[in-house]
Amino acid sequence: MADNRMLKFVTLPQAMPPKRQAETRVHDFDEIYEAFVQPAAEAQAGRCSQCGVPFCQVHCPLSNNIPDWLKLTAEGRLQEAYELSQATNNMPEVCGRICPQDRLCEGNCVIEKGFDSVTIGSVEKFLTDTAWDKGWVKPRLPKAELGQSVGIIGAGPGGLAAAEQLRAKGYEVHVYDRYDRVGGLLIYGIPNFKLEKDVVGRRTALLKAAGVVFHMDVDVGRTLSLSTLRERHDALVIATGVYKARDIALPGARLDGVVPALTFLTASNRTGLGDQVAEFASGALDAKDKHVVVVGGGDTAMDCVRTAMRQGAKSVKCLYRRDRENMPGSLREVKHAEEEGVEFVWLSAPQAFLGKRSITGVRAIHMRLGAPDSSGRQAPEPVEGSSFTVPCDLAIKALGFDPEDLPTLFDEPSLGVSKWGTVRVDHKTLMTNLEGVFAAGDIVRGASLVVWAIRDGRDAAESMHAYLRAKASAQLAGAAE
Ligand SMILES: Cc1cc2nc3c(=O)[nH]c(=O)nc-3n(C[C@H](O)[C@H](O)[C@H](O)COP(=O)(O)OP(=O)(O)OC[C@H]3O[C@@H](n4cnc5c(N)ncnc54)[C@H](O)[C@@H]3O)c2cc1C
Repeated sequence: MADNRMLKFVTLPQAMPPKRQAETRVHDFDEIYEAFVQPAAEAQAGRCSQCGVPFCQVHCPLSNNIPDWLKLTAEGRLQEAYELSQATNNMPEVCGRICPQDRLCEGNCVIEKGFDSVTIGSVEKFLTDTAWDKGWVKPRLPKAELGQSVGIIGAGPGGLAAAEQLRAKGYEVHVYDRYDRVGGLLIYGIPNFKLEKDVVGRRTALLKAAGVVFHMDVDVGRTLSLSTLRERHDALVIATGVYKARDIALPGARLDGVVPALTFLTASNRTGLGDQVAEFASGALDAKDKHVVVVGGGDTAMDCVRTAMRQGAKSVKCLYRRDRENMPGSLREVKHAEEEGVEFVWLSAPQAFLGKRSITGVRAIHMRLGAPDSSGRQAPEPVEGSSFTVPCDLAIKALGFDPEDLPTLFDEPSLGVSKWGTVRVDHKTLMTNLEGVFAAGDIVRGASLVVWAIRDGRDAAESMHAYLRAKASAQLAGAAE
């Protein structure tokens, strides 16, 4: 008999949790969606069609068992739904908030055509936030200690996922990070209005309660060498992300007021966390009362434009060389930004930053999309004679990230590096060319997504577990001979 709690997509329209009005939300850094309330979340979960081949799950990097936890949610069996959702994901509440669902699970929902997809991300956030409120989220303590220790370099989502998995298996886990706070880009990159920082903080507390040891302000390669860590631990995971900002060589690039995106966002996040940031206090990294121009069309650019609006910019323009349909960032984010007053100048590229000492304007040129390049994307080309000038007191370059110089960063010349400058791994085991050293997240893939970093962290942990068990057995056999 068909379950009458499901298949509601035919009669029940898609509804997101209430979104705060743009006029209100631009005055603070709080998240923009209010929480789903229980009957609404359950009813929205019941819109799932329980299709035979769940494309939402297929297109989730974590293969989250979405149809089953939606069904349990629709039936009001929230704790079971949560247990199922956390079985494949170390931070479902983070993914629920910031995954680009429109490109992953929701974008592949079979009812999307004509009916609007199930609001999977919002239900996932509701479920996990409910689990935290009800005390269902517990530290994952090991059943027995295995007597081996592992070191993880990088406390971003990749490193944290690996840490939780390895600790639960019984390893002594030490995480090293050059920052003073745990979370990587979840803390210092992604703004509070997408992901409130206490959401990350409670995960950190959970890992500490499980026995994971954090060593902060440790810059591996500078304050501590990779070889020292290899001697200290039975195996290592490198999960250090990518931090070298891509640049454009334009006249005026060295003027005061031309800044890289992550410098701007980190200053804003630190200020929000209560740190004294000199360059924010001096106004250099504060958009208040300024005409702001952001160059780029990815998610980092979207975070910059929306942060600048919240800081009280006089105007915020985003210059992107392709059009709306061809931008790399999430269209959902563009919509939020437009609601908040950001102006997008599609098909435009900067030619020069203007000014004597400080920036006063950006000269840009209109672009058109020409023939497809080797990747199949239409290459943008300038429209001759179409230059224009935009007034600007703060220009933010959001052009993407590359890995810092490897292997120099870790002072380990023998570490294998790919032609893209990322750490080279065996794609089956995620082990680098250094015995017992694994790698995960952006440092392997290049700039990617939180959900992929979690996936890699889990895979690296699994693979390291197999490696360490084999090593322990070999040692035992050797001792017995
Ligand atoms: C502004 C911005 C917005 C984003 N928004 C989204 C989004 O909305 N949704 C999404 O899914 N993804 C988003 N991303 C991408 C996402 O944040 C990353 O893909 C993800 O954080 C990668 O995780 P990671 O663990 O590999 O690296 P990171 O999160 O970068 O963590 C790496 C950690 O390693 C530490 N580290 C680096 N070098 C060393 C060293 N030598 N010694 C010790 N520690 C070191 C760093 O301090 C950091 O804490 C965004 C990225 C940016 C920059």
